[in-house]
Amino acid sequence: MTLLLNGFELAGQCRASLAEKIKTLPRAPKLAVVLVGSDPASAVYVKNKEKAAGEVGIESAVYRFETITQTELLSLIARLNADNEIDGILVQLPLPDGINEKEILQAIDPAKDVDGFHPLNLGKLMIGEPAPIACTPKGCLKLIHQAKQDLSGLNAVVIGRSVIVGKPMAQLLLKENCTVTMAHSKTQNLPELCRSADILVAAVGKPKTVKADWIKKGAIVIDVGINRLENGKLCGDVDFENCFDKCSAITPVPRGVGPMTIAMLLENTAEAFCRHTGIDF
Ligand code: NDP
Repeated sequence: MTLLLNGFELAGQCRASLAEKIKTLPRAPKLAVVLVGSDPASAVYVKNKEKAAGEVGIESAVYRFETITQTELLSLIARLNADNEIDGILVQLPLPDGINEKEILQAIDPAKDVDGFHPLNLGKLMIGEPAPIACTPKGCLKLIHQAKQDLSGLNAVVIGRSVIVGKPMAQLLLKENCTVTMAHSKTQNLPELCRSADILVAAVGKPKTVKADWIKKGAIVIDVGINRLENGKLCGDVDFENCFDKCSAITPVPRGVGPMTIAMLLENTAEAFCRHTGIDF
């Protein structure tokens, strides 16, 4: 029997328990969200994050700019870093051409970095120190734990090596004592490599890349990909219908990893509040 890892349901549980805890705080945690440019997808993501934050009792302040210079954006980040009422800062990616994304992300106070993209936080993850963890891989790990608690000794293959998904995902699995292999566009014999995986995480960005004959029987499969097909439907990086029976557990797209990413952002904001105020809950 294959377990459907329902991220929508799990995210709902995470959010409900967070909302209960936030009710006990002396003030609402506050998240600053910076949105630059006119990318419609980014505007929708920000709206969803704002709504989700409000629902658990997190206050959000959205700073929207059609255009902004690098210097102006850096000075906004500096103001938000210094603002005692702001607990967490999120800069919606991608930033438009002409803005140096790396410099902007590095300017965020690492303690307020709710996305976990600051190099200091990525470095802390690598050396095993507590730090804000990137939301998507953090959510993926929670989903994997729904299927299996002890991951020690399992073979994990992560397809994709981006800084926001693949690399932190591999680090998290390594921390769980998995034997981790990272694959990317230059990897040789990807199907064969995937067949060795007890845990397979696909973060490729290409629809139905992972085929049924790539899956080891009983594997846990996490599909991070969000791809829009010509018919307007969303689909993941895994050929879900054909892979389903071979897996012990698999995430669907939609309602898999996506809702967990937002839930983890809320959790990271609450954790940033705790770091900032010294109030624990
Ligand atoms: P990137 O484009 O940054 O990275 C994609 C990775 O896939 C790269 O490392 C690339 O290799 C690798 N790759 C591309 N083609 C192949 C191939 N044919 N075989 C093996 N590896 C390949 O994407 P992201 O990591 O940002 O996102 C990946 C997917 O996850 C996207 O669909 C994105 O929309 C989705 N996503 C979903 C989220 C959610 O909340 N559900 C959150 C974030 C992302 P190389 O490095 O060699 O180029």
